[in-house]
Amino acid sequence: MHDHRRLGRELNLFDTDPLMGAGLPYWLPDGAIVRHTLEEYIREAEQRAGYRHVYSPVLGKRELYEISGHWDHYSEDMFPPMDLGSEQVLLRPSLCPHHALIFRSRSHSYRELPLRMAELGGMYRSELSGVLGGLTRVRAITLNDAHIFCTLEQAVEEARAALELIGRAYADLGIRAVRHRLSLPGEGGKYVADPDLWRRATALLRDVLDGSGIPYEAAEGEAAFYGPKIDVQIADPAGREATLSTVQIDFHQPERFDLHYIGADGAKHRPVMVHRSIIGSVERAVAHLVEAHGGAFPPWLAPVQLVVLPVGDEQAGHAHELVGRARELGLRAEVSGPEQGTLAARIRAARLVPYQAVIGGREAEADQVAPRLRDGRRLGGLPAAAFLRSVADRVAARGTELWEAA
Ligand SMILES: [Zn+2]
Repeated sequence: MHDHRRLGRELNLFDTDPLMGAGLPYWLPDGAIVRHTLEEYIREAEQRAGYRHVYSPVLGKRELYEISGHWDHYSEDMFPPMDLGSEQVLLRPSLCPHHALIFRSRSHSYRELPLRMAELGGMYRSELSGVLGGLTRVRAITLNDAHIFCTLEQAVEEARAALELIGRAYADLGIRAVRHRLSLPGEGGKYVADPDLWRRATALLRDVLDGSGIPYEAAEGEAAFYGPKIDVQIADPAGREATLSTVQIDFHQPERFDLHYIGADGAKHRPVMVHRSIIGSVERAVAHLVEAHGGAFPPWLAPVQLVVLPVGDEQAGHAHELVGRARELGLRAEVSGPEQGTLAARIRAARLVPYQAVIGGREAEADQVAPRLRDGRRLGGLPAAAFLRSVADRVAARGTELWEAA
């Protein structure tokens, strides 16, 4: 069974240090590549879907969270305020309030809606030290977040499109949802009180789910404090479920921040806020990718995509030249030479690398490679240029297959 904490250390992806603190992992170069590649994928997918990216600070004044409702409904999960002279600032527990202020800072016409604002941004959660571990229970989180400011009529279509983005991302990442959940409020004072707004938001999300044909179950007590949400659930190898992606419809924060746009009638109207996350937190997404693939990432996400293995020292020069050509094509390639052991040992050491190119005397002479795939397949002698081009095309297309089926 794959545990992302053990694999993360073995594969040199991430680790923690008691001096940095529990729940505050750092990323090693190979882990940083996986993370960066994932973030780039998300930014591109969002840009294609009409989102525009912003940056906002990870600190905010206490008043900001009093207005958003976090201070009243969520403060148990927040770090205590820091005193700065006469004011108090907080490490933010979510990105929504900042995005609401950014929307409010400019006047907006109905023609600009839906306005899709996205950010991969930091947020913080005051987890108890006893439950911290790996990348799934952390105190510092990078959230793949977005807020769509739109009319009530547009909200259903925006939420539907967000679910579709999530589905496409899961296919590209080679992961799967175990369940879709419609998360509703439960008992207690954790939730903002406005039964009418809850009913309307819940009805909209049910429309989205029913229209998509995705089976789902409703669960009480799992909603955000300000509104219901669709949770896309994943499971770890032990079958423990967690929420990765979410889509929410929110009438509450537009009220609290007094957001408006100018309608076709020239009057002010209140927008709806659709909150959505494609891969949730980057930390949890990478943890899940490590576990789901056992460290054998899809080629486009792999820290090293191609290892070139010269049989003997005579082929070392040619191997380095081949790696140079692969890097020119944008591939992450390395040489594993005879100084690192026998050919069999080097092939074993590279078992998680999607593509391996063995170079013997004959291959070097003819500028060919004898490729081996991670799944054990051997492709026979191929011209080096054609092989590199084919790998680069597969990586660019972000497929999950190593090669066409034999
Ligand atoms: Zn939000």
